[in-house]
Amino acid sequence: MTDDPIASPVAGNPKIAFVSLGCPKALTDSELILTQLRAEGYETSKAFAGADLVIVNTCGFIDDAVKESLDTIGEALSANGKVIVTGCLGAKAGDAGGNLVQQTHPKVLAVTGPHATQEVMDAVHLHVPKPHDPFVDLVPEARAEFRGVAGIKLTPRHYAYLKISEGCNHRCTFCIIPSMRGDLVSRPVGDVLGDARALFESGVRELLVVSQDTSAYGVDVKYRTGFFDGQPVKTRLLDLCTRLADLAEPYGAWVRLHYVYPYPHVDDVLPLMAEGRVLPYLDVPFQHAHPDVLKRMKRPASGERNLERLARWRELCPQLVVRSTFIAGFPGETEAEFETLLDFIREARIDRAGCFAYSPVQGAAANELPGALPQAVREERRARFMAVAEAVSIAKLKERVGAQMQVLVDQAPALGRKGGVGRTYADAPEIDGVVRLLPPEKASKTLKVGEFTRARIVAADGHDLVAQPI
Ligand code: SF4
Repeated sequence: MTDDPIASPVAGNPKIAFVSLGCPKALTDSELILTQLRAEGYETSKAFAGADLVIVNTCGFIDDAVKESLDTIGEALSANGKVIVTGCLGAKAGDAGGNLVQQTHPKVLAVTGPHATQEVMDAVHLHVPKPHDPFVDLVPEARAEFRGVAGIKLTPRHYAYLKISEGCNHRCTFCIIPSMRGDLVSRPVGDVLGDARALFESGVRELLVVSQDTSAYGVDVKYRTGFFDGQPVKTRLLDLCTRLADLAEPYGAWVRLHYVYPYPHVDDVLPLMAEGRVLPYLDVPFQHAHPDVLKRMKRPASGERNLERLARWRELCPQLVVRSTFIAGFPGETEAEFETLLDFIREARIDRAGCFAYSPVQGAAANELPGALPQAVREERRARFMAVAEAVSIAKLKERVGAQMQVLVDQAPALGRKGGVGRTYADAPEIDGVVRLLPPEKASKTLKVGEFTRARIVAADGHDLVAQPI
């Protein structure tokens, strides 16, 4: 087994270079395509040169991401010539209608939207015929560097994203995702739970539940009853979380929820968090706090009283950590509306907050709204927001000094003899801070990647913590 999930152990078969851009949802699409390629016996690599074909999984969310995707396609065309494009940008129209990718790069062989494994495979078969291998053909997963049915993972071995649905029923005015990914389609609950079990069995110790709108899971199928292990399970957030917690328990593994909107029914999940069965961590993209701005944004749950909802959640689960993202300088945002946002951050005591200065996305309805603010004002508000948010975050981190916490180890060279890096339940990978682990005091104590250790927090350092393994 190789450490590089892209590198293939199969030599001599057609080689497909793969580039994965974008968010965790796009990453899970990449994992499905790579799993299928490897299952069919294709070699996979990251290098364009020497490959028989290149697949670029693109992102089309903000203009910078569009540029990065188009540039990568251009590089792949010059270095290799044979390129298939998939992902969100593949579903995006150009200025004059038609397909943006095809207009910009007419030489690409095929373009698909997101979540299109079969269409991508059909295009691959057309241009680079499937290698014949009687063993592989008979046992489709034999060649895949698979982890149970869950397939190739582009994340480290000990954590994985689990996508529970595609698309979104909302129409936030700054977002073009629904036009690229379509309306909400929930994955069958039995399939989701089957994937989760395979991931835990293969060594995953932290499962990150992702979608565009996790709270809405099952709305499209009217919370239909599915089956897992012969037992009925409703396609609904609470039922899903309960069963994921059951599956995680024998491994002591973590289940973390992302992209949860503050609907009242989310309250039902909080007791699972208070009991420690699901991590007491919620990634809630509030985006703003002023009701008029939220209305102009057409945000889901914009009518909810978010401060009260947060207070209720914390009452149900005092150890809850809340991460969120916000937009500063949305069209028409007044200074008073922005001040409301700053007050919200202070009062809500959001543990981890990110903020974008509003930037128009081509094709988004918000571009037509009156009151666009100058770039300098948007940037200035973002900086003011971050100063407040960081002060809140750092104060909350300091409260942890002296506590003993469970830490999942992400890095531990030489079995942790020189220390390592990990995360507590309060830190999602790649977006939050980390815990810098000091070398263990006891010579017999080792740290291993993907295992948990208890640690005593000895200091807070910016967004990170420093801890002594015990
Ligand atoms: S909830 Fe809003 S921001 Fe999120 S994907 Fe749906 S439309 Fe976009």
